[in-house]
Amino acid sequence: MTVARFWRETPRRYNLGGNRCSACTTVYFPPRAVCPTCQKHRQSLGKMEPFTLSGDGEVFSFTLVHEAAEGFEMQVPYVLALIKTTEGPLLTGQIVDISHEEVHIGMRVRAAFRKLREDGRAGVIHYGYKFSPARENGGREAVASPVSQEALARAAARTQGTART
Ligand SMILES: [Zn+2]
Repeated sequence: MTVARFWRETPRRYNLGGNRCSACTTVYFPPRAVCPTCQKHRQSLGKMEPFTLSGDGEVFSFTLVHEAAEGFEMQVPYVLALIKTTEGPLLTGQIVDISHEEVHIGMRVRAAFRKLREDGRAGVIHYGYKFSPARENGGREAVASPVSQEALARAAARTQGTART
């Protein structure tokens, strides 16, 4: 990819900017001009609105890559996964911040912006999204844990109640 093309695409790469069909609410990434989900494609013309993916999703499938593409030699082996985003679109990306033995289908992940590769000759560093386990970012599961603590306390209180009666 040329540097010029990369920079043209950068805002979309950074923001996970896709679009959504306002007729049927299907989300696309990268954005599409018409909605292939709508039965009458022409209905969606002019009804596609910008939509930014949250970056949250789960591992749909993955593979361990041993042979790196040019520019990625330093990173092998690495896990390349297909991520099913919460909004629907499937994204391909590298899984980071976890050993490959621990990666599994259904694992919650979140997009993180990282250095993708360095172009030695041009001295350009390319950035883009990779995926890391959601729990590492203190997201979903950190929010969920006080709730489950509370549920545990309620359950304990109920148990004590029944024990007394
Ligand atoms: Zn549609």
